[in-house]
Parts: sequence; C-alpha cells; structure tokens
Amino acid sequence: MEIQFLNFKYTNSTLKKHFRKKLLDLVKLNQYILGNETFNFENNYAQFSNTKFCIGVSNGLDALFLSLKALNINPGDEIIVPSNTYIATVLAISRIGAVPVFVEPDIKTYNINPNLIEEKITKKTRAILPVHLYGQSCEMKKIMKIAKKHNLKVVEDNAQSQGSFCYNKITGSWGDVNATSFYPGKNLGALGDAGAITTNNKYLNKEIRMLRNYGSKKKYYNDKLGYNMRLDEIQSAFLNIKLNYLKKWNAERQKIAIWYDELLSGIDEIIIPKIEENCTHVYHLYVIRTKKRDELAKYLNVNGIQTLIHYPVPPHLQKCYKFLNCKKGDYPIAELLANTSLSLPIWPGLDFAKVKFIANKIKKFYI
Ligand SMILES: *Cc1c(COP(=O)(O)O)cnc(C)c1O
Repeated sequence: MEIQFLNFKYTNSTLKKHFRKKLLDLVKLNQYILGNETFNFENNYAQFSNTKFCIGVSNGLDALFLSLKALNINPGDEIIVPSNTYIATVLAISRIGAVPVFVEPDIKTYNINPNLIEEKITKKTRAILPVHLYGQSCEMKKIMKIAKKHNLKVVEDNAQSQGSFCYNKITGSWGDVNATSFYPGKNLGALGDAGAITTNNKYLNKEIRMLRNYGSKKKYYNDKLGYNMRLDEIQSAFLNIKLNYLKKWNAERQKIAIWYDELLSGIDEIIIPKIEENCTHVYHLYVIRTKKRDELAKYLNVNGIQTLIHYPVPPHLQKCYKFLNCKKGDYPIAELLANTSLSLPIWPGLDFAKVKFIANKIKKFYI
C-alpha cells in the first residue's frame, strides 16, 4: 500500500468537469481580473466567515502583510506572535519592518498560550497575531480580552483553520482584520496561489481594497502607494465551486481524526492532538508527537506511508532571522515541538482501511 501525505482525488479530480466549464466560460468572457467571480467569492467567503467584508488577495502572506499595513503598523512596532508558527506569519511582520515578539505555545494545544502574552506587552506593542495552528482555534475569548485591556489590534492568521470555532464564533471573525490562505493544500485550496482577508470594519475594507489594487479606487488615479496583490478571476471561480464543499470536507477530516485518535490512543509513546474546551479543530494537519520522531518517520516511509514535519525549524532559529540574535533554548516549547512533531496523512477521501493500516504500522514500530 502507498499512502500519500496529501491527495486531491476527491477534492479536485471529482470537480474537474466544473473547473473546465468555468475556465472556458471565463475565456469566452475575457474576464480575468476583479470581475464577477471575485466579487461573488468575496461575498460567499464573507458569508461563510460571518463577517461583513471579504477581500480576495494574491496569497496568505500578502493577506497578512496587507492586514498589518491597513492597521498602519509601522517599522519598529512590536507584534506578538506564537514562537511555533509557519514562517509566513513572521515574514509578514518583517516585511512591514515591525518586530516579531515571540510567545510560547501551550504544550497541549500547540496554540499561543494566552497566559504568557501580557508579560511580553511593552509600550511599542501594537497588535497580537494569533495563529490557529493545524486547524484548531486559539483561545480567542482570552486573547480578545487582553487586546482590549491593552488597546491592541488583533489579526488572526486563519490559513490553517477555515471553518473552526471558538465559543461557536468562527475563526476569521474575531480579530480587527484577519488573513487566510487558499494555497492548494489548505482546507479550502485554490488551484494555485490565493488568499483573502475578512473584517467587519468598513474603513479597513476600503483601505485594503485600495492597497491590493495599486492604491487606486478609480482606475489610473492612485491615492496610496499600493501593490498588485489581487485574487484573480480563475482562482475565484475555482474557489466558488470548492467553497460549497468545505463544511463537508472539514467534517470528513474530523471523522478521520477520530479514527486516528481511537486507533493510536493505546500507544504510550505517542501524544495525540488535544482540543481546548470551547474550541474546535478542522484538522488541516493531524500532528502526533513522539521522542522517536525521525525513526518513526523513516519506518513509515519504508512502509509506503508519507509523513511530513510541521515544522522542523522554528522561526527564531531560521537563518533568515539570524539578525534577531536568538539562540537555541530561547523558546524551548517551540523547539521541543519542532523535534517531536510528525504529521500523518489526512485528506478528504482517506478511508478507514488506510487509517487502520497506518495505525497498525505505528503500533508495530513500538513493539
Ligand atoms: C499557508 C500559511 C500561510 C501563508 O499562506 P501562502 O498562501 O502560502 O502565502 C500563512 N500562515 C500559515 C499559518 C500558513 O499555514
């Protein structure tokens, strides 16, 4: 048996006919940039996110950057961010010239630990950037309370958890302005690069619309030094088709996660994902932890099972962040996660037989 880490058989291949038709329609219309498909997708995704506005953009990194830019974050401002996130979250902060201030995650949920945020707040702190890592919502109630108390903005990084909830309020609707990614492998993935921003703020909506399109409200009149960070029509069209299935696909991921939980719970050497009370998980990734991570990954690979590590090096130890002068041991929880985490295959369509096969191989490894 060969089990891929990610497989688009049920999400993309079965929708091929619809993609083809949409693509040919668009070619017939010669409509490629900021047309009806993008307009419709923005409305559909705003509705999904329970926000007033959605702005389609080029990718998740640009979505984060534009969110910070629209909030008027300036060079030297400090942004609170988890120490164990994907590099894009931190790169968006650096692109502004702002300073990432790392806060360690909760060892149970792998999301930013709200109890450690306040001690990192200084006069320069402007915003908190929580990341709903692997698909689980952060403890947004606590985070919003801290932000309010200290007059800070909140930008959610919702790239991995479209459709997750905290206290029945969907991720991407808590912060002042929130970023997501439709990178092909995300729970809602385009057929190329794409991203979006959600907000309830009328001013920020206008500002971001302008910034993503050359700083222009009216063609050839430029009010701001803007960017070209638009979501294009073809990706919008594909996303409109796929958005109809997102809830169903998330439910399928959750079903697979329960299978894994049940099959793996008897193995002492393995830590399975834990969910915070009042939070939900849409399992963008199913991440286990074990001391023998590298050996297990190798063993599974030999047995035809692909796994990945999210992420092998935390941002503060990346070469590109040498200038932050961090050293090994500065963020021990992030480093522990980097050394012990292993992501198992999870995708809509992964059936019980395959999950059982994977679990049995893991059991065999520990005998
Ligand atoms: C994927 C991802 C991003 C970046 O999205 P891109 O579309 O690849 O630029 C940002 N943050 C997190 C947590 C991600 O997983």
